[in-house]
Amino acid sequence: MDNASLPPMPLILRKKNDDTRDNSNYQQRHANYRRNSHHVQERCPFWDKVGACRHGNKCVRLHTRPKKSKTVVFWNLFPNPVRTCYKKTTGKDGTEDVTNNGGDFVVLDAEIDERKLSQEADRFFQDIFVELSLKYGEIDDLIICGNYNPHLGGNVLVKFKDERSAAKSYQECNDRWYGEKPIFCELSPVSYFEDAACKDFSVSGRCDRGDQCNLIHVRRPDYGLRKKLFASQRAYYKDTDR
Ligand SMILES: [Zn+2]
Ligand SMILES: [Zn+2]
Repeated sequence: MDNASLPPMPLILRKKNDDTRDNSNYQQRHANYRRNSHHVQERCPFWDKVGACRHGNKCVRLHTRPKKSKTVVFWNLFPNPVRTCYKKTTGKDGTEDVTNNGGDFVVLDAEIDERKLSQEADRFFQDIFVELSLKYGEIDDLIICGNYNPHLGGNVLVKFKDERSAAKSYQECNDRWYGEKPIFCELSPVSYFEDAACKDFSVSGRCDRGDQCNLIHVRRPDYGLRKKLFASQRAYYKDTDR
């Protein structure tokens, strides 16, 4: 069990010589409690469906990390083209609203050059697709998250045909760099990209929830490019019989 699946440490139970500050001991005691009390922690629906949650490791619901999966998530790999921040909100009494998880998410850049961004996304898609396919195995699907919020923005979800390809890629890529930045990736619980995608955005390219949307706004590459890459991959794996 990892820290992400544990509720916050109960501060009120701490005594001067209490060893609840020792996290390993806390985890052990929590595991015992769960075993003895048949306590069932609720699963986080966003984590299960989208593979990311805005509350991150502070989420009170369970984020299950699969030991095996065909899907790998590369966190924030596609560079976010706009500057963003969290704006603190205030409650009715004028003091900071600490319940709002750091405040409202705000996009600072009003003007975004969509044409330039699409070109960059196409180049990125091709780069990542070719590298991962040739090095780790045949790709079933690959999507770039076009959202601007930090927990989804620039994430890349790659579903391989084979679990072994996914395992190899996530183990090796965590030691690699892309665009002068270290890569962070892990196996993802997401298996159906259609379910993880925001339907409104997929249909019309717009979503009323905007940057607060917790589903994936898929940044689609050029249709012809995508078709060409998958066709090349099919020919490559057919010829080499891998
Ligand atoms: Zn969550
Ligand atoms: Zn949406």
